[in-house]
Amino acid sequence: MSATANLEELVGGPLSAELAAVTRMLESRELLSYSGHVSVRVPGQDALIIQRHVDSRAELVPERMLVVDFDGKVIAGKGNPPSETVIHTEILRARPDVNAVLHCHMQLAVLFTQMKGAKILPMRTFATRWASGVPVHPDPSHIRRLEQGQALAASLGQHQAVLMRAHGITMVAESLKGILVDAIHFEENLKDQIQIMQMGGEPIPLTEEEMGSLKKSQNRTHHLRKLWIYYAGKAVASGIFPAEWNLLDTDH
Ligand SMILES: [Zn+2]
Repeated sequence: MSATANLEELVGGPLSAELAAVTRMLESRELLSYSGHVSVRVPGQDALIIQRHVDSRAELVPERMLVVDFDGKVIAGKGNPPSETVIHTEILRARPDVNAVLHCHMQLAVLFTQMKGAKILPMRTFATRWASGVPVHPDPSHIRRLEQGQALAASLGQHQAVLMRAHGITMVAESLKGILVDAIHFEENLKDQIQIMQMGGEPIPLTEEEMGSLKKSQNRTHHLRKLWIYYAGKAVASGIFPAEWNLLDTDH
């Protein structure tokens, strides 16, 4: 009774609401479109919450979320998960430090898999998040089978993002708030690098030493909180999602 009841409560619960809110915000920034998806780990269980495969990323609601186990089986909610759900299950299985996964087809990121010798450079202070590098997964296929998910998780390794050749990107974070902020910053960093190259300039990326000292001064908890207050507040004011899904306690 208890295990099943708890899983059913996740559908429409606070974590589902936050997942819907983050997805709608990423869609409103065109980081997600008609495809791409975000998942969040069910705390303490080999399961995740994810949207139904065909539901619009712009109109997700907590009540339509699914709870899926690490074998891809829907264990709460009704409907089918996205065809690439194995991306999420295999990364969450391989990385206990990760609680949220984003897979999307961010155009600026894909460009870096289509150009010979292209490498994403750490341009802005917040790029310390990707100081270990951003590997490229060589297989352009959609990730639908278990072994493809495992291969992608292996390409990601201990990094925080992996590009997928001619396809997209998968990013990981410790929380849904983390994945929202990371996706926004990742795109900002790419835009800086691309605009410098378009201006005919040579990028001057942060050095390892600079990133080392920046990392020491950065407070991710504070940063995520500050940016969540900004982006979620703005999104609620613009009608992107209802105020009751903005669950951050603002007692700060
Ligand atoms: Zn994809």
